[in-house]
Amino acid sequence: MKEKPDKPERVVSGIIAEEDSTLDNSLRPRRLEQYIGQEKVKTNLKIAIQAAQKRGEALDHIILYGPAGLGKTTLALIIAAEMGVNIKNTSGPAIERPGDIAAVLTNLKKDDVLFIDEIHRLSRTVEEVLYPAMEDFAIDIMIGKGPGARSLRLNLPPFTLIGATTRFAMVSSPMRDRFGVIYRLDFYNEKDVADIIIRSAGILGIPTEQAGVKEIARRARGTPRVANRLLKRVRDYAQIKAKGVITEKVAKEALTSLEVDEIGLDEIDHKVLRTVIQKFDGGPVGLETIAASISEEADTIMDVCEPYLLQLGFLDRTPRGRVATRLAFQHLGLPYPKDQTPQAKLWTE
Ligand code: ADP
Repeated sequence: MKEKPDKPERVVSGIIAEEDSTLDNSLRPRRLEQYIGQEKVKTNLKIAIQAAQKRGEALDHIILYGPAGLGKTTLALIIAAEMGVNIKNTSGPAIERPGDIAAVLTNLKKDDVLFIDEIHRLSRTVEEVLYPAMEDFAIDIMIGKGPGARSLRLNLPPFTLIGATTRFAMVSSPMRDRFGVIYRLDFYNEKDVADIIIRSAGILGIPTEQAGVKEIARRARGTPRVANRLLKRVRDYAQIKAKGVITEKVAKEALTSLEVDEIGLDEIDHKVLRTVIQKFDGGPVGLETIAASISEEADTIMDVCEPYLLQLGFLDRTPRGRVATRLAFQHLGLPYPKDQTPQAKLWTE
């Protein structure tokens, strides 16, 4: 097996790091009204919750998808709280065998929520146990072995499965079909990120100035987890180098020392863009090739760099690979080869 390189955690990664777990828990909004942004999802969810409660039924199975750190786990916890039910928390890689999922399912109480993070990483055999559970609230258990073996159907109480994924395309289609609702979480706009920072600073008792908050918000990649992490790092800096208050100057200095640029890109993002532009003439180039040229894992680039670079419009995904756009050239201060644009190249080939 390939060993993971021992690299320092990226401060702008939405993926949960060791330092985040206690921070995550203390800063997590508990109710829907405290959950900032994602208005469309919240509106639909409110209606669904009210309707289910009116009928006295469990909520439909829900799949939440979107890049890491956008609030999928938080939303699952909130849904259970709003429904007034218990939540059982697990993840795709943690459920290895069919027996594991059967044990989880048979322990659920009526209307409980079962949250499976990284649902795209469930194995086929585990998924097969989940299908009848999701559809008919039942599981089929094999009793005995050989010719005498028979299957026994065990009824389950109605429950709600909430699946979260960063890779919607990797969720198998029979699995997808069994979800009643699909909610996509988008990157947050700067105003929402600023509100999240203000809320978190309030909970943590960190004095901030508006311009300081704005500076952090601009560099947080539209991701609450990154915003909270940057806030914590800037606070440390403010306590040591300034009088503890997060001003614009303090935020700027702190974030520059963390090598997070003015729109939230770090060294790896820069490397990715420079590789596409300078080594591969702006693309198209495959993700694996980019990863190999900068000695990074393709998964890191796919989960952490790419979603944000696509959102910024710095990268384009084409059938033949990734292409750097004019905006990417501009951000790096490189001339955009007008006559030989990557698009023009594509058209003439
Ligand atoms: P995901 O499961 O998508 O990786 P989480 O739900 O763990 O993300 O969210 C990461 C952290 O970001 C949470 O601890 C929470 O503090 C914060 N957060 C996420 N979404 C919101 C939101 N809408 N409003 C306020 N804070 C949020």
